[in-house]
Amino acid sequence: MDIYDALRFSAARISNELFSAGSIFSVYSLATTFLIAFCALAYRRKMRRGRANFRAIARAIFNKRILLTRSFAADVNLFVLSVVLMPVVVGALVISTNAVATVVVGALNASFGARAPVACCDLSIKVFSTVVLFLAYEIGYWVDHYLKHRIPFLWEFHKVHHTAEALTPVTNFRNHPIDNIFFGYMLATFIGAASGALAWVFGRTTESFTVDGKNILFIFFLWTIGHLQHSQFWIPFRGVLGNIILSPAHHQIHHSTDPAHFNRNFGSVLAVWDWMFGSLEIPSTKNPRLKYGVTEEGADPHSVVGILATPIFRAARSLWRGGAEAWNVLMERMEQRRREGSKSTSIS
Ligand SMILES: [Zn+2]
Ligand SMILES: [Zn+2]
Repeated sequence: MDIYDALRFSAARISNELFSAGSIFSVYSLATTFLIAFCALAYRRKMRRGRANFRAIARAIFNKRILLTRSFAADVNLFVLSVVLMPVVVGALVISTNAVATVVVGALNASFGARAPVACCDLSIKVFSTVVLFLAYEIGYWVDHYLKHRIPFLWEFHKVHHTAEALTPVTNFRNHPIDNIFFGYMLATFIGAASGALAWVFGRTTESFTVDGKNILFIFFLWTIGHLQHSQFWIPFRGVLGNIILSPAHHQIHHSTDPAHFNRNFGSVLAVWDWMFGSLEIPSTKNPRLKYGVTEEGADPHSVVGILATPIFRAARSLWRGGAEAWNVLMERMEQRRREGSKSTSIS
């Protein structure tokens, strides 16, 4: 493959990402997001000032100051990189999801016996499967995200997403490739396990409602509030809704540099896991004007080295330190046991 082939291949991937209805960054999802942001801002300005200046609202949405930041430029570079590499991740994800499903069906058949295929209720089973697989995605996302904040080795890769100082829909792609791969396998485990369980319960492979292979409930979220989670618009859900759905403001709190906000709101669409496990932070009605990013010494977080190489070195270092710490603890315990052993021998 020469340079022209590589460019053509990359352009085809990017165009597919933009124009396929089920892709994360489709122009359709961006258009509906723009419409929702426009309506939300117009309503807020009308309430506050008695009128809505449409040109000012459009200027607020396409904020030149944000689009000129190095943080945004780095997000765009990672968008291109991840979209070009995405087929590799998606391919591995499909293979491993099917493999996990096969193992789970086999284990359930061996433990409880195979069930006769359910011959009726296709529509109800399809609706049920759609909801179950969506929940499997959501809990898989939460566990993956929680581990990435709690395990130093994984945090070094996930930190790339948090070094964004300006949030735009492109920030969704600001992830280290290793972070994406780990996410893919985590999802494959949860979605594969759910698919296997569904196949065993109904005695056959079940279908679900999808758009270009993506769960329709996930697509609905993406076309409404998904992109606004990475934006400068403070749209908070409070009360009961704020305990169930993660609003754009919930995720902006997750990106905040305020230590009071660290390790809060790990979920994707549903807030219920954060609610259940005590990591939910309900956003205030008033915009607190949060700052985003990670304050840390070292390489420029928006440079190629800072984004791609530094996380690998730091992750290796954290692994080495963790190993050395575990080794020291082991040595100390062995020494303690040896001392206790020699003490008991001298007493007897
Ligand atoms: Zn995070
Ligand atoms: Zn984010």
